[in-house]
Amino acid sequence: MLENKVGMIFGVANKRSIAWACAAACGEKGARQAFTFQGDRLKESVEKLAGELPDSLVVPCDVTDQAQVDAAFAAVGAKYGRLDYLVHSIAFAPREALEGEFVTTTRDAFRTALEISAFSLTQVSLAAAPLMTEGGSIVTMTYYGAEKVVPNYNVMGVAKAALESSTRYLAADLGKQNIRVNAISAGPINTLSARGVKNMGSLLGYVGEKSPLKRNVTAAEVGNTALFLVSDLSSGITGETIYVDCGYNIMGI
Ligand code: NAP
Repeated sequence: MLENKVGMIFGVANKRSIAWACAAACGEKGARQAFTFQGDRLKESVEKLAGELPDSLVVPCDVTDQAQVDAAFAAVGAKYGRLDYLVHSIAFAPREALEGEFVTTTRDAFRTALEISAFSLTQVSLAAAPLMTEGGSIVTMTYYGAEKVVPNYNVMGVAKAALESSTRYLAADLGKQNIRVNAISAGPINTLSARGVKNMGSLLGYVGEKSPLKRNVTAAEVGNTALFLVSDLSSGITGETIYVDCGYNIMGI
């Protein structure tokens, strides 16, 4: 399905990462993929995981450093000559902003969360577009806390609202180059980032009980949806936020 396609994956921290589930699903269908990591701390684990997939590339990329972003895309261009899809699966807010009341969010926490979790999609889309010479697909990860209040999600909810809106503006801009941009709104999954949100455990329990499918979604299910969105099967879909949350978002009470 993805033979001869080249992907770039942002956001693998470890094997539980949603980004890794996306990469594994796409790798199984024949894609070659580049992986970015932030900081030397993650280098070894990302290299080990990427090594499980054929003809992969691992490059550093902290999105707060434009020089690293430029270098990462240059490395992808040099190795593969082009890019067909990109998975943006990164987010960050200072831990103290992910507990208590939203009203106490500091200017610094707001700026950091919005820059890393939302602006970075625009940043990497601009860099990816010239490499997507035969069209392309960009997929990002969002969460229901963008539209409804979820306790402790706070400034990350505001960042995800900006991310979802960015998805639509980017889809409108890049559509003429046959580049599609979509967001997956994943239900809660127990990953490293998720553990940074206070009381994540009780959120998982609540959602698992209330969702129509009576369980939590898995990273593999999100990965399969990413596979659909980067493949030609979704060629008519752009600018959308697609829920992969066992149906939780449709419930009123
Ligand atoms: P994860 O494994 O911790 O992945 C988050 C990634 O973001 C990590 O690789 C992290 O690297 C990276 N990152 C943070 N700051 C960065 C920066 N400045 N530059 C580059 N990368 C940076 O957690 P995850 O749950 O899979 O999260 C992936 C995405 O899914 C996020 O956008 C998240 O909001 C979204 N999402 C998650 C859930 C959930 O319940 N897990 C639900 C819906 C949406 P470091 O570890 O080095 O910081």
